[in-house]
Amino acid sequence: MKTISGVWNKIAKLFTNTKIGGLPLRNYMKGEVCRGTEISFWLDPWAINEPLKLKFPELFRMESEKKCSVADRIRFQGLDRVLVWNWKSPMTDPGVISEFQQLLAVIETIQFTGNGDRWLWTPDKEGKFSVKAVKNLLHSDIATANGFVMDWCKWVPAKCNIHAWRLEMERIPTGEALKKRNTQIGDSVCPLCFSAEESSLHLFTGCLVASNIWNGISMWCKIPYIIVFSIKDLLGIHKELRASERKKDAVQGIIMIACWSIWRARNKLIFSNKPIRIAVAAKGGPFL
Ligand SMILES: [Zn+2]
Repeated sequence: MKTISGVWNKIAKLFTNTKIGGLPLRNYMKGEVCRGTEISFWLDPWAINEPLKLKFPELFRMESEKKCSVADRIRFQGLDRVLVWNWKSPMTDPGVISEFQQLLAVIETIQFTGNGDRWLWTPDKEGKFSVKAVKNLLHSDIATANGFVMDWCKWVPAKCNIHAWRLEMERIPTGEALKKRNTQIGDSVCPLCFSAEESSLHLFTGCLVASNIWNGISMWCKIPYIIVFSIKDLLGIHKELRASERKKDAVQGIIMIACWSIWRARNKLIFSNKPIRIAVAAKGGPFL
């Protein structure tokens, strides 16, 4: 059997050049890990929708064995995971340490399966990849995942689209999500307001910080006050507006960017101890 890396390298070119909804096809493929011997830790996309070397470039530079497999880095002792690293030098740089903490948060959310390493086509509920599946996606120009029709916004960066997609799929490693997987260290209270458990629903809708941002955005965009009770409602709010398609598109993108900014600010607070500051720009837009 060819290794998953070998297959990945062959399709990578094709999948990078073909785009759906502004994202290369490779972003829709994902390695699912059983023991991880067939999947490259840094070079294959398995934990997130892109290879870890792209997400954590500083750590990749520190890695001694660039081609190591997932099994080389994550070993199992009974039900416990043991992480095994091989860095070129001790970690002292705050930027590297911050990347490392984020990598640990990513790894904690991974569920290992008993099915053997395999490729998943993420728009399909069962992960099955076929030419027909790709054609369907190309025709609709819409990615579907877990029954949710993801409405890609073409003018915002891919990272914001991917973040919104993962948010809708409940794949954001919030305190509550980590606790459900028994990987939360310490308590899971919201680090922004300390008044509720940190679920994605709380962080992006109910939290005081989010409320302030949505309030600012609704005034800035001259739209009704944003009150939502689910992530799906939040990401679909533009559809309900009585406005031109252009304005709907703008509001959709602004909400995606705001969600991504909230998550980034939350991570900076947790991992780098940077306080959250909501500034109001000259024209009234709220920025984190
Ligand atoms: Zn909160």
